[in-house]
Amino acid sequence: MDTAYQRLLAHVRTITDLGKASAVLRWDRETNMPKAGDPARIEQLTTLRRLIHERSTSTAYGELIEAAAAQVDSTGDALAADLICVLRYDYARARRLPEDLVVRTAETSARARTVWEAARADADFARFQPWLEQLVEIQREMAERYGYAGEPYDALLEGYEQGATAAGVRAVFDAVKRETVPLVQAIAERADAIDDAVVRQAFPIEAQTAFARHIAAVVGYDFDRGHLGTVVHPFATSFSRDDVRITTRWYPDDLRPALFGTLHESGHAIYEQNTGPELARTPLASGTSAGIHESQSRMIENLVGRSWPFWRAHFPDLRRHFPAQLAGCDAEQFYRAVNKVQPSLIRVEADELTYNLHIILRFELEQALLGGTLAVADLPGAWNDGLRALLGVVPPNDREGVLQDVHWSGPSFGYFPTYALGNLYAAQLMEAARAQSPDVDADLDAGRTGALVAWLREHVHRHGRRYPPAVLIERATGAPLGHAAFVRYARAKFGRLYDLPI
Ligand code: ZN
Repeated sequence: MDTAYQRLLAHVRTITDLGKASAVLRWDRETNMPKAGDPARIEQLTTLRRLIHERSTSTAYGELIEAAAAQVDSTGDALAADLICVLRYDYARARRLPEDLVVRTAETSARARTVWEAARADADFARFQPWLEQLVEIQREMAERYGYAGEPYDALLEGYEQGATAAGVRAVFDAVKRETVPLVQAIAERADAIDDAVVRQAFPIEAQTAFARHIAAVVGYDFDRGHLGTVVHPFATSFSRDDVRITTRWYPDDLRPALFGTLHESGHAIYEQNTGPELARTPLASGTSAGIHESQSRMIENLVGRSWPFWRAHFPDLRRHFPAQLAGCDAEQFYRAVNKVQPSLIRVEADELTYNLHIILRFELEQALLGGTLAVADLPGAWNDGLRALLGVVPPNDREGVLQDVHWSGPSFGYFPTYALGNLYAAQLMEAARAQSPDVDADLDAGRTGALVAWLREHVHRHGRRYPPAVLIERATGAPLGHAAFVRYARAKFGRLYDLPI
């Protein structure tokens, strides 16, 4: 193919490389950087963001996309056509935000994050409040700039879950809420059926690290193209398909956060490591949406990593790492302990069943803040009332309540729902994988994930961003996103665990 497309590719590779350089700086900020480096790092990230914004929104770039598109049309190259489609979409969206708004957002968000950290440490919402007020204002301005057909929230949701609407998500979430709340209540009446004391003991960090590395490799994370680091707020990040990093935090007195956190981030990383090599250095070489990305982490963390066959197979290994702590425990006891359902305050520590309710609360509050029906000053009260209604618990302070998550300092309105969407996509993909590939069940039953990851690579991973989420899920599972697969999964699993009459 001749010059216009080649010139476009060169330009796109520059933008992608700048984005990856900025990801390295962010990864370093979270893992290794001394706190004193923060002001300079914020300036460096702001500079990169400005360079990326200039190159992604220039008139010349738009002309280059169209010149290349005219060539690609005549060649019938499907990959090039898909790339052009994504570039046109990203270009149009990026052009809607003026540069001063992008810079103001980056600066406000970086400072708000520092304030949020201090406010959270002191459980002092009042300190964060004026910053959150600014951020809500910024989000409103962004929604108006982006534009929307239905409601302002759609414009922000679009940034994480292309094609999704607040109304569509609300309908699915309402069904999840309707099905989950009674299930959680029925389980609460049998709270004593599961004892999880065995996972809340002193577990040496060194042995935790060794087992986390072992189990991440077992589920399919490739350490030759990866790295496990320590952070306060775990994440996965990719600098190329051959360098995909995961991070974990270690608790000396609880085995679960590091173990399941590592499995979670491994799921994200396996997705990035398996994107098609032909997509490299373009925006196609990444997960297609935050929700689909989260489906891959939830798949590994929960549908695989909290399943009975998985622990039947791997508990002996775990016990070898912690002979004293797990001496009196067997695989089934451990499986039950890591699946204890308990209404709780902190989203990232929530069990598989109550997790979606934490998300639904945030989804509803974000919409109310954006729509102006809830003032920022009233947010802590609304948070506490909402949590009481959904889970029957109330935080004793704002650190364990409204200040617990970093997202709003982003500001990332529209991001939270993708976590619960991930749980729903994961259940639907698992049903499809089992139905379509005869090896998946036999493999999972033996504690292996090879056949499942192979199915996911074929139907999800290798496509990167070539298909938007709604198209991908329909192609892979034969149906649009719904709540039914998750509800079937949850009822079967927790019905059995808690001996419920369902
Ligand atoms: Zn995740």
